[in-house]
Amino acid sequence: MANNPNENEQAQIIHWADMTADRIIKQKGDKGQYVLASGITPSGVVHFGNFRETITVDFVARALRARGKKVRFIFSWDDYDTFRKIPANMPKQEELKKYLFQPIVDTPDPFERDESYAAHHEKNYEAQLEKVGIEVEAIYQAKKYRKGDYKEQIKLALTKRQAIVDILNKYRAEPLEDSWMPLNIYCSKCNRDKTDHIKWDGQWEISYTCELCGHQGSENLQTTSRAKLPWRVDWPMRWVFEGVDFEPGGKDHSSDGGSYTTAQEIVKEVFGGTPPVYLQYDFVSIKGRGGKMSSSKGDLVTVNDVLNIYEPEMVRWIFASYKSNVDFAISFDLDVIKTYEDFDRQERLAYGLEEGNDKKVAMAKRVIELSQIGPMPTVCPFQPSFRHLCNVLQINDGDIKKTRVFYAKDIKNERDERRFQERSRCALHWLKNEAPDEFKFTLNRTRPALDLTKAQTDFLNNLHAFLEKEWDNLKSDKELHEKLYEVIHSVPEFEPMMGFTTLYQILISREKGPKLASFILAIGKERVLGLLRP
Ligand SMILES: [Zn+2]
Repeated sequence: MANNPNENEQAQIIHWADMTADRIIKQKGDKGQYVLASGITPSGVVHFGNFRETITVDFVARALRARGKKVRFIFSWDDYDTFRKIPANMPKQEELKKYLFQPIVDTPDPFERDESYAAHHEKNYEAQLEKVGIEVEAIYQAKKYRKGDYKEQIKLALTKRQAIVDILNKYRAEPLEDSWMPLNIYCSKCNRDKTDHIKWDGQWEISYTCELCGHQGSENLQTTSRAKLPWRVDWPMRWVFEGVDFEPGGKDHSSDGGSYTTAQEIVKEVFGGTPPVYLQYDFVSIKGRGGKMSSSKGDLVTVNDVLNIYEPEMVRWIFASYKSNVDFAISFDLDVIKTYEDFDRQERLAYGLEEGNDKKVAMAKRVIELSQIGPMPTVCPFQPSFRHLCNVLQINDGDIKKTRVFYAKDIKNERDERRFQERSRCALHWLKNEAPDEFKFTLNRTRPALDLTKAQTDFLNNLHAFLEKEWDNLKSDKELHEKLYEVIHSVPEFEPMMGFTTLYQILISREKGPKLASFILAIGKERVLGLLRP
């Protein structure tokens, strides 16, 4: 960072998470502890699109902690929501149908692993968050509602029913029906939330009729475990209940008249609170896997899927390096290589191993800091180039142990070791599942029978002779690259292109392949000479 940056420059090198932290302190006052919130309805597989909200809060939490503040990062599992739709990718569709309109928390786990459908998806996601270094305080809303934690707030919402109706109607094409109540009741007979004709006695008694089974029931709000506020009322209620200072929202909630607009008004008019500081985040999509993610489609990409392609620090880095209000795509295709290169470059910038202007370096430092799972290493971790690593792995038939021998001298500490192991696993997974065919190869074990011209044969013989004699004296792939040209030019009227193609055919039975000099060195002396030997 420059010694005396003017204010303008200062503003430009502040990361959005830090700016948001400053905004929270400014708007909410200087407090000892701030409450940051995020939440998801476990209505199906929690996918990578949902993850943007979680990590947005995590970055802001870290920024506040860096300012010496205590942070409660509460993560609301809205598992008392209704099971409205069966995702196409769930097994036992017929069995699940029986639970439609019941609380998600009462729906059984179709995988028969956890105590409920909700718990299954909650546990999966919580385990994934741990892998990317995110710690949350989970709040299970079904438990809160059933314990009666919100009974006073429910009564308050009923008392202020008209104010809620007025706010909601401002943004509705059709006004709410006269009988509408800010309350959902799960029928005591069939456990579904299609109850109607809800009547309130002005105190604690509620009566209702079930549209689906016809049951006429009554509940006491002080003791019932069947009442729930509708989403647009529930959200602002919890802001006040937990004292939420910050909660981001997706585009879908942020539109005018959307749930954030009405929640801002309801929190003041009904619950006497103030809305949290807000930050809108944009969508994230996957490139190379086809299209935007949505819960209704069967094939969803999860954090685990992305962790198969990118190291945990890189998953964080991708989000930290984009502004929160910018939509972007995470690549699963050939651009994975570029993403790794970009990450490595920014990491080198952060550690001063690559030159950049002050602003770039300052931003790189902050972004790399926010990307850490553990403490920031004091030295830059080992950076095996992803492209080259893919080649070395393929040379070694995908064997990570054998591949490690090639890199052994570069692996100097535990962090380097983890970097190598994780990156190797990602590279292997990518090669097997996502990489384009032209990127994949199998190294020949024996020299293939080829119909070679005299020039080609001379070239291979000359190269064999050169490598046999000089291999151990080669200092770098750059040097070998130059020598390759010399050997090619030693054969009369032999073109470089012809030389390269011949070598690829000998090595991997292909017309093209990885950059030759580093490729040859990675294959190793014995195997190369074995293949070149006439
Ligand atoms: Zn019923």
